[in-house]
Amino acid sequence: MNTGEIIKKAGLKATLQRKTVYELMTRLGHSSIDEIIAGVRQQNPEVTISTVYRILDSFCKAGLLSKMNHPNGKYYYDITPSEHHHIFMNNEIIDYMDPELTALIKNHLKKKSFKYLDAINKVCVQISVNNEK
Ligand SMILES: [Zn+2]
Repeated sequence: MNTGEIIKKAGLKATLQRKTVYELMTRLGHSSIDEIIAGVRQQNPEVTISTVYRILDSFCKAGLLSKMNHPNGKYYYDITPSEHHHIFMNNEIIDYMDPELTALIKNHLKKKSFKYLDAINKVCVQISVNNEK
């Protein structure tokens, strides 16, 4: 499936600007808004910051991207919208797929009669690794 088809399948109109942002995200994987804006403007300097924000917001609502808090305090956009965990190592963000960990946490919360159990949207564990020598 090409970029235009992926965007249309998510229920959005496949505009050139949306295609530019989505293709950039497939290359970046995880990215801060600053990096996305810089990348988009490299290809098309006329795209406004508010347009980029609107596109990213529409992608999150349509399930094409997810948004997460980085330990550095910034929001990051993620090309993988499904439930997964992250490893933060130096300046790298690594996806960590571990359905057993997710199930373990959900079971633990169930045993503890976690008040919001039925309302859990996603379980996302963030693991910071100190790999400096
Ligand atoms: Zn991720």
